[in-house]
Amino acid sequence: MIEANRPDLQSWVNVPADSDFPIQNLPFGIFSTSDRSPRPGVAIGDQILDLHAVAERGLLDGLGCERTDFAQPTLNAFIDRGKAATRAVRGRVSELLREGSDLAADATSVLVAQTDATLHLPVHIGDYTDFYSSEDHARNVGKMFRDPDNALLPNWKHIPVGYHGRASSIVVSGTPIKRPHGQIKPNDAEPPVYGPSRLLDFELEMAFVTHPGKPLGETISTAEADDYIFGLALFNDWSARDIQKWEYVPLGPFLGKNFGSSMNPWIVTLDALEPYRVPGPVQDPEVLPYLAYEGDAHYDVALQVDIIPESGAGKTVCQSNFKHMYWNMRQQLAHHAVNGCNIRGGDVMASGTISGPEPGSYGSMLEISWRGTQPVQMPDGSERKFILDGDTVRMTGFAGGDGRPRIGFGKVDGKVVG
Ligand code: MN
Repeated sequence: MIEANRPDLQSWVNVPADSDFPIQNLPFGIFSTSDRSPRPGVAIGDQILDLHAVAERGLLDGLGCERTDFAQPTLNAFIDRGKAATRAVRGRVSELLREGSDLAADATSVLVAQTDATLHLPVHIGDYTDFYSSEDHARNVGKMFRDPDNALLPNWKHIPVGYHGRASSIVVSGTPIKRPHGQIKPNDAEPPVYGPSRLLDFELEMAFVTHPGKPLGETISTAEADDYIFGLALFNDWSARDIQKWEYVPLGPFLGKNFGSSMNPWIVTLDALEPYRVPGPVQDPEVLPYLAYEGDAHYDVALQVDIIPESGAGKTVCQSNFKHMYWNMRQQLAHHAVNGCNIRGGDVMASGTISGPEPGSYGSMLEISWRGTQPVQMPDGSERKFILDGDTVRMTGFAGGDGRPRIGFGKVDGKVVG
């Protein structure tokens, strides 16, 4: 077991019992306050440990990083040091926050209350890839738009299908999402029109952030993949279904997707999730050798989506789990690099919509309302088939709980504005 994951560890920082951020978690992010410029920090309870302040005291020396890595407005310099260095820093931070550490005497200068901080997009994202790796989601979409009896396309169980998205429109939780306009074709008989999307949707996803991979022309095996994955975030891949439907043939998603995706500000390391690995589904037909993997490579992360209207109480519309994926992250990364495609530090690879097998676990309104035929009843009496202006979509997630350390992600909020 990774030492920093020991369930018996206690911090000198008070951590409420229901906190997403006990000492076993230690997610990394970028924060600022009125007198601290944007810099790396680690969430602990309802506080943030200022890694710049800690590094300036020499407490992160000798771990494979430079002090200047912690004076940057993104995590890229830190992540670019590679897995051994980020693992060592998380281990040192665990020691520094443990009961008995001398750092407790310095609490007022190294800790910042989360309520006093602004959280920023944690990485400068070079490239963004979105996969399509939940069988239940792919099947639901196939049933709706193609053949109910033959819902999966022939390639789906052989290839972790994905596409290259737009990195520059990924925004941090709390950033408003402007309803996109575009070309929409109301029905088969009429020509397309231009206007606001009427079928604006969320996609419940998780995204992983990469360490620098290998140069162009080289591959990454499933056995090596974990060494190139820094950590994970909650990810809302906003989707305009009406724009998407008209544009996606033959080249795939474009303007229905690239107007915005929302990410939570704390990156939970793959190491912190290590105790929550679980087996994946049996893959039948057998995958090609480069996609085969050994051991448990799926993660038990409970996920939830709430819609909170401007005027009233919210409603939980989805409870899913990251373990429902058909293709896991090792397979996604190995597939991404199998043609020699290079992977850089700070790339983001999202899972695709994470739907479970039950209707309450569907990860998009397209599925929840079954293409608008089964509207959701909201507490204020209104109905939702898709997302309306003024709605905030909130995604939350955590591993553990129930007596085990709760490894939480915080939340990703996005409010739709007209
Ligand atoms: Mn997606």
